Amino acid sequence: ERRLVVAGASLAGLRAVEAARRSGFDGSITLIGAEPHLPYDRPPLSKEFLGGAGLPPFRSEDVLRDGLGTELALGTAATALDTAARTVRAGDREYGYDALVIATGATARTLPGTEGLDGVHTLRTRDDAIAVRRALDAGARTVVVGAGFIGSEVASAARERGLEVTIVEALPTPLARAVGETMGTACAVLHTRNGTDLRCGAGVAAVEGERRVERVRLTDGTVLPADLVVAGIGAVPAVDWLAGSGLSLDNGVVCDETLCTGAPGVYAAGDVARWRNPAFDRHMRLEHWTSAAEQGAVAARNALDPGNAKPYSTVPYFWSDWYGSRIQFVGVPATDEIRVIDGDPGGNHFVALYREGGRLAGTLTMNGQAQIMKYRGLIMRGASWAEGLEFAERRRAAAM
Ligand code: FAD
Repeated sequence: ERRLVVAGASLAGLRAVEAARRSGFDGSITLIGAEPHLPYDRPPLSKEFLGGAGLPPFRSEDVLRDGLGTELALGTAATALDTAARTVRAGDREYGYDALVIATGATARTLPGTEGLDGVHTLRTRDDAIAVRRALDAGARTVVVGAGFIGSEVASAARERGLEVTIVEALPTPLARAVGETMGTACAVLHTRNGTDLRCGAGVAAVEGERRVERVRLTDGTVLPADLVVAGIGAVPAVDWLAGSGLSLDNGVVCDETLCTGAPGVYAAGDVARWRNPAFDRHMRLEHWTSAAEQGAVAARNALDPGNAKPYSTVPYFWSDWYGSRIQFVGVPATDEIRVIDGDPGGNHFVALYREGGRLAGTLTMNGQAQIMKYRGLIMRGASWAEGLEFAERRRAAAM
């Protein structure tokens, strides 16, 4: 009997299991997950869940075990991979595989010097989210470190409860890496409009308190009283367990366009994978829901049938919800030119296009749900900048 092992029991791992069965694979499947929980969805953790919604797992245990015929090894981290013997070690067991999908995702970066201080959290797991929600329920004065998407969503959730929130951001403009400086500023306007105190270019000197956090001291001497500190300062790919495996590790598990790591039968998917994306002819590691889900499925199919391995090509896509507005981005945040072609970046709706050389490379919208996927399609086709502008012009004319 052939054996598929999936390391990492979240979105990409689950999609790997489902795609394997859908493709007709009837061998054994083992799903190894460090968290004790059944696979669950992460985007709601910083959105609806903080507002009080529930968080059911993606699939019940019955569906996973009986429906999908999966052996669950939850609450055990994989600790070593031997690509010659084709085994994964987890807990005190060795799992032999014919095909392996690495889907261990990413781990939140923590604030240095805050170990052991209650009330200081990252927001990556269900357990993190429960702790943050409890603090918000108690009316915490909140300091968010990092004005990225997750930090911004936490601030929004706190404001929706009427709590005092400050965001401390080291960069002069927020989200510069994700959407470029001008558009980062445009998004950040939402914070100030909704009563969040956004402080850019500010550094955290110390997070202080006896047992619980009491205050955050900034490098300019400002002291912010705080009952809850949430660090939204990025995530690092969970590859420690692969040290010594011989896989190429460089900001993630390096893969070719089929998500193959180079080791026989070993593929990677999701936040942990840095693969060559044919749509942009460059290596990328994304931390986006859609690509993690799609890569999980592709990696499993390719791992089980390497002779017919298909490339995974995509135009990156993510969304984020702040203060009832939806921000969406497709493509890459190229900097040759960014042009607002609809709406007003100071208001509640806008569309901005990103140019790279002669090509339409990206599109950012705020409350532009009806348009964003059309631009994604254009970018996937390799549309020129001129085509992008023409398309926008036609849409504008049609809307009038
Ligand atoms: P992960 O979800 O990180 O899962 C990896 C799993 O592997 C984890 O359960 C981890 O415990 C486990 N693991 C790690 N190491 C090991 C090991 N050695 N052995 C076994 N198991 C291991 N994306 C969007 O596009 N839009 C959004 O609005 C959005 N919001 C988000 C909000 C939050 C709070 C977070 C945290 C993420 C958000 N994302 C969003 C990103 C999206 O959730 C991720 O891209 C997606 O979860 C990646 O899935 P994954 O399976 O690759 O990795």
